Amino acid sequence: MIAGAELFPVITTTSTNPANEVARVLTGRDYLSWSAISTFRTCPLKYWFRYVAGMPEESASSALVFGTGIHAAIQFGSTETRASLDALAAKMLTAFLNSPAASVQGRVLGVEEEIRGTLVEGVPDLYGRIDLVTEDEDRLVLTDFKTSRAKWSPEQAEDAGEQLLLYSKLAGDLAPGKKLVTRFLVLTKTKDPVIEEHLGEVRPDRVARTVTSVERVWKAIASENFYPAPSVIGCASCGYRQACSEWRG
Ligand code: SF4
Repeated sequence: MIAGAELFPVITTTSTNPANEVARVLTGRDYLSWSAISTFRTCPLKYWFRYVAGMPEESASSALVFGTGIHAAIQFGSTETRASLDALAAKMLTAFLNSPAASVQGRVLGVEEEIRGTLVEGVPDLYGRIDLVTEDEDRLVLTDFKTSRAKWSPEQAEDAGEQLLLYSKLAGDLAPGKKLVTRFLVLTKTKDPVIEEHLGEVRPDRVARTVTSVERVWKAIASENFYPAPSVIGCASCGYRQACSEWRG
């Protein structure tokens, strides 16, 4: 937390949300995280391995390491070395410190602050952390820091916004009457790093759509509807490939 910043209160509804106990029995955690929701959406079986069975991820096979290494080499360029990557990291940090984004606008309410609360009846509490929470006269701004190999398009920012939309539903009660704004600060890992700011309006229809999606995800989890959802990108980096190939339902 930044010195002098007011702590963003953690919202707890553990005692009044019966779905928390269902989640605790199933997964050992009495809440849902965005990471868990995303994992289920990517592949329900991967969710089961990680959150229900609690299995550690397998060490990567030599073929996977080789493939990933080739992929990384293509992405970074064959001339990249540890020294050049260190130099890139230094450039990125310098670019950030020299950008207006490094100066906080408004009043800091919290940094890396925990948030927890009930999104909708019948679904366990959502628990997470917000990178930065600020407010000014009219707005409460929820900021997430990202690094990326390239600039984001407006569509990418919108697609990535679901997590912040859910957090805004929980945080909104803390700043009644203020406009809620989501904000991504994207730092590119390019030769000449740039900082991009993507501001998003929190529209009630988008929040409602995202909450409904989480509701459906939870219904599938609670009914133990787990199945493999193979994809080229998802399976290539999955830590449960062996267990998945042995899965028989
Ligand atoms: S290997 Fe693919 S299908 Fe199997 S659990 Fe992993 S992501 Fe899912």
